[in-house]
Amino acid sequence: MPTTIKERVVIASASGAWLTTEDGHRLLDLPAGLWYANIGHGRERIAQAAAKQMTTLETYHLFGIHANRPAIDLAERLRGLVPVADASFILTSGGSDSVEVACKLARRYWQQVGRTRKTVVLSRTGGYHGLHGFGTSIAGLDFNRAGYGTESLIPETARIPLADLAATRTLIERIGPGNVAALVAEPVVGTGGVHPPPDGYLTGLQALCQEFDILLVADEVITGFGRTGEWFASHRWGIEPDLITMAKGITSGYAPLGAVAVSGRVSEPFMSGDDAPIFRQGITYSGHATACAVAMENLDVLEEEDLVARVRALEPVLATAFGSLAESPLVHEVRAIGLMAGVQLLPDVPADEVIRGCRERGVLTRLLAGNALHVCPPFVITPDEIRFAADVIAAALDAVAERTA
Ligand code: PLP
Repeated sequence: MPTTIKERVVIASASGAWLTTEDGHRLLDLPAGLWYANIGHGRERIAQAAAKQMTTLETYHLFGIHANRPAIDLAERLRGLVPVADASFILTSGGSDSVEVACKLARRYWQQVGRTRKTVVLSRTGGYHGLHGFGTSIAGLDFNRAGYGTESLIPETARIPLADLAATRTLIERIGPGNVAALVAEPVVGTGGVHPPPDGYLTGLQALCQEFDILLVADEVITGFGRTGEWFASHRWGIEPDLITMAKGITSGYAPLGAVAVSGRVSEPFMSGDDAPIFRQGITYSGHATACAVAMENLDVLEEEDLVARVRALEPVLATAFGSLAESPLVHEVRAIGLMAGVQLLPDVPADEVIRGCRERGVLTRLLAGNALHVCPPFVITPDEIRFAADVIAAALDAVAERTA
């Protein structure tokens, strides 16, 4: 499909939190790529782990009785990291795959246990869940769901409000709890503009799901692997989902990989003996051995360098530095949590101009939904670099304010 690209930023190399463009400009990577570069760019040891695995066995698929060692080891290691009871794992190639698998499995589960009317998948307004079939259908950003000839590709979906438990209860009662299979929620809405959950919201959502026997799917594709200062955001807000989708930070972007943590309750009907039904889901590169070896090395880095604790330590630095941008007359509000923030500009502020101004001053950012600037740096960023980034955004905003005054 032809697109109009007015300017293109081609990244040629990167190290730590810094990128170098093809024409030689150094830019601080404020969005960590697309929320993935948690351990930072240019890690030699990850490349070595990949090379070692590739020269031993590039991969072997996981269909039927077949497996490869890195996939088995990774699943075992993830079991110890997730707040999911008696978890098993389905490995995928990325976040959209993980959402697709989780939604299919939720529906398949209810069919298998005889509650065949439970098919509707709920999601949060403003949420983003990738762009495969289910991700498109449950998109909380209308522009991602629209244009397919029907309200959504998969008809049995509905949106709950961003953070209103009473209205969610009303909606579930209107649809009929006996018709609802799952509720998919990002603990912190990311692409929708970075919206942290209000106090008590996620535990309230979990309680509603328990009351109405709805499977809770936490989409932790962004928040997994430390982004909010805990291994998973579900830890931070004290929930224990039935399924967790993850990707991005699982390899910090060094290889495409995703996973779905499945609670014992949901996996049990498919595991009970030789004549148990098969959940017919698999993709050639599910559990790709090299990607899994990369994930293992990435987890080693996170642990050895105590990077999740580093996110906790940097959280107030980021909140203070970026929070001060709310003083700009062009800024509506700043929302920050862990090592992520959305700097929401007023609707009529030309964000493109602000973003270009940031680049000219050495900082790369991009636009999220709702005219918000994307802040989600690699965990290795320093306090000085955080303050530098906020100062650059302030200067770019001032320049635009002056021109439009
Ligand atoms: N879920 C969430 C919360 C995401 O932020 C994303 C991507 O940004 C996805 C799913 C889709 O992941 P991917 O782009 O790896 O398919």
